[in-house]
Amino acid sequence: MSATIIDGKVYSGALTAKVAEEVAALVRDHAIKPGLAVILVGEDPASQIYVRSKNEQSLAAGMHSVTYRLPAETTEAEVIDLVRQLNFDRAIHGVLVQLPLPAQISEKRVLEALDPDKDVDGLTVTNAGRLASGLPALTPCTPLGCMIMLREAVGALAGKRAVVVGRSVLVGRPMAQLLIGADCTVTVAHSKTRDLPGLCREAEILVAAIGRPQMIRGDWVRPGAAVIDVGINRVPFSDPVKAAAGKTKVVGDVAFKEASEVAGWITPVPGGVGLMTVACLLQNTVTAARRIHGLE
Ligand code: NDP
Repeated sequence: MSATIIDGKVYSGALTAKVAEEVAALVRDHAIKPGLAVILVGEDPASQIYVRSKNEQSLAAGMHSVTYRLPAETTEAEVIDLVRQLNFDRAIHGVLVQLPLPAQISEKRVLEALDPDKDVDGLTVTNAGRLASGLPALTPCTPLGCMIMLREAVGALAGKRAVVVGRSVLVGRPMAQLLIGADCTVTVAHSKTRDLPGLCREAEILVAAIGRPQMIRGDWVRPGAAVIDVGINRVPFSDPVKAAAGKTKVVGDVAFKEASEVAGWITPVPGGVGLMTVACLLQNTVTAARRIHGLE
């Protein structure tokens, strides 16, 4: 194996520690305790785990943290009402609505109700527009985490050829904007892209945000490239005994073993990008608190 592993545990640990120091300084110097509110509607098991982790980690960083657990049959009007209350709650600086929402609730209308200054997931049209215009924005946590790891692991990014596979509002698009902001030359690929392997082989920075287990093979990777694997895919174990027992494991969008023999840097799954996402949520909440209080 030749690639340097970009260890999400190391980077997220460092970022969380930095956030905790920033929280302590805000409390000490300005009597401001950054506050995060998370709204969870329904019983989705993966969402339950994410939300618990967000709550625990924000409390551990010294922040104020509230989780609203609403039943699956909650109406759109009730969620929007809660969002509006939180927009005016002075103890809350960040509001996150855990996605996906149950079918009766429009994600778009809920996000429209959210104050962009408290949109710590960076999903409102206002924050997406600010990011695309190169203005200070609250940036979606996953691409923000990818960017922090890239800058710290790889160093200078200006002029590098970057390919982002995936164009979702949550990951692919903001990732491309952040790379443009770092002076990379960026191509965004998607399901209609022709000759994806050939395009990927041009990339000095390759970001995979597809949701297809191990789709990016080793021979798609340019030697020495930085490979950031955002994918989280649950697949059955190859061991037939474990598979028969219904056990699953998590893999990324990149065939890690093959790719790590060619790449210069690579993030593992699990243990890579996923860990940075919550740390960036905490960072965004501190950023929101500073801006709301005119400190930034
Ligand atoms: P989406 O399903 O919203 O987007 C997937 C993107 O991949 C789309 O743009 C789609 O293209 C593209 N795509 C799908 N199939 C192909 C293909 N065969 N060739 C090329 N492009 C393809 O997913 P997300 O962006 O929300 O998430 C992507 C992955 O990242 C998932 O595995 C998700 O679980 C994971 N994730 C991880 C996070 C973390 O914290 N680590 C956070 C968020 C997501 P098109 O637009 O044409 O349909």
